[in-house]
Amino acid sequence: MNFAVTPHASPVPADVRSKTLEDPGFGRVFSDHMVTLRWSKERGWHDGKVAARQPFAIDPASSVLHYAQEIFEGMKAYRTAKGELVLFRPDMNAARFARSAERLAMPVLPEATFVEAVEALVRIDKDWVPSGAGSLYLRPFMFASEAFLGVRPALEYIFCVIACPVGPYFKGGDKPLKLWVSDNYTRAAPGGTGAAKCGGNYAASLIAQAEAATHGCDQVVFLDAAEHRWVEELGGMNLFFVMNDGSIVTPPLTGTILPGITRDSIIQIARGLGLQVKEAPYSMDQWRSDAQSGKLSEAFACGTAAVVASIGEIVSSSGTIRVGNGAGPVAQKLKEQLIGVQRGSVADAHGWVRRV
Ligand SMILES: *Cc1c(COP(=O)(O)O)cnc(C)c1O
Repeated sequence: MNFAVTPHASPVPADVRSKTLEDPGFGRVFSDHMVTLRWSKERGWHDGKVAARQPFAIDPASSVLHYAQEIFEGMKAYRTAKGELVLFRPDMNAARFARSAERLAMPVLPEATFVEAVEALVRIDKDWVPSGAGSLYLRPFMFASEAFLGVRPALEYIFCVIACPVGPYFKGGDKPLKLWVSDNYTRAAPGGTGAAKCGGNYAASLIAQAEAATHGCDQVVFLDAAEHRWVEELGGMNLFFVMNDGSIVTPPLTGTILPGITRDSIIQIARGLGLQVKEAPYSMDQWRSDAQSGKLSEAFACGTAAVVASIGEIVSSSGTIRVGNGAGPVAQKLKEQLIGVQRGSVADAHGWVRRV
C-alpha cells in the first residue's frame, strides 16, 4: 500500500514535546501525525495518507454515528535501552483487527497493510516515543463513514491510526486493584461481539464501570451472561489466578472474552518459566472461597495499556474479600519478563519484537 506522506507544517516544538513526554498521563496528548486509508465498494482500499493529525469531516448520517460499526486496536511502540524503536507482536493485532472486521461485517484490511500503517506513524512520530518506562500508545481503528440510514453493512469506511505518548495506565501506579463484581450488567453474550474489539462493547460496559466507581472500585469484573456465574474478564483486561501450589488459571476463550495479546504472551512466558497454566472456567463462588481459604495466592489483570496489575480486593453487594496480601510476586515476575522482552533486556525467545 502506498501512503502519501505530507509532514506536519507546524509540529509541536521540540521543547514543548519534551516537557509533555515527562508526564504524558494516558490518552490525553497526541502525536503530530495520523495515518488514514479509505475503503469503498467500488475502489477497495485507497487514498492512503500520512499527514498532520486533524479532525475528520464526516456526514451526520455516517453509519458509525447511528449503528456503531466501529472496531479498534491498542498496541505500543517502545524505545529499547539501545535506542531502537520496536513493536510487540504487531502481527497479532493485525490478525485480531481482521477478525473484528469480519464480526462487524466490515471490509478486512490486509494484515501487512495494517502493520505498514502503524510503522509509518511510528516512523514519522518517532520523537514522540518516550524513553524510560513510557511508550507510544498506538490506536488503529476503522469506522463506517457512508452517509446512509438504512440498516446494512456500510459501503464506505475510514481506517486511521493515531498515537499518544503514555505513562502508567492507572493513576495509583502499582497499587493493587479494587474490583467491583456487577450483579446488574454483563459485557458479552454467546453469539455476541465479546471476542471482537469494538467500541460497542465499551459503550455497553461504561455504566457498570460507573457503578464500580461509586463503590470506590477501579474496574468491573464481568461474569458470563448465561449463568452469571463464571468469571470472564474486566472491561478491557483479561484475568489470571495464581494458586498456592504455583499453578495458574485463566478463563478459556469461548467467544465471549477478548483474546488479549498480553494474555497469550503471559501464558507462554509462565509456561517458559516452568509454571503450569490452565485455561479453565473459574466461578465467582470459587474465587471467593479460594481467596478466603488462602488457596488463591494472587489474582491479576493484564492488557497492553496497563500491562499487569495485581488485584487486592473484590467488592460486591455481598461484601469485600481480600485476595492474598496484594503483593503478587508471581504477577510481578511475569510483568518483569514481559516488559523485559518489550524493552530488549530479556531474550526474545519467541520472535515477538519487531524493529521499526
Ligand atoms: C483490548 C482488550 C483486552 C486486552 O488485550 P491486549 O491485546 O492484551 O491489549 C482485554 N479485554 C478487552 C475487553 C479488550 O478490549
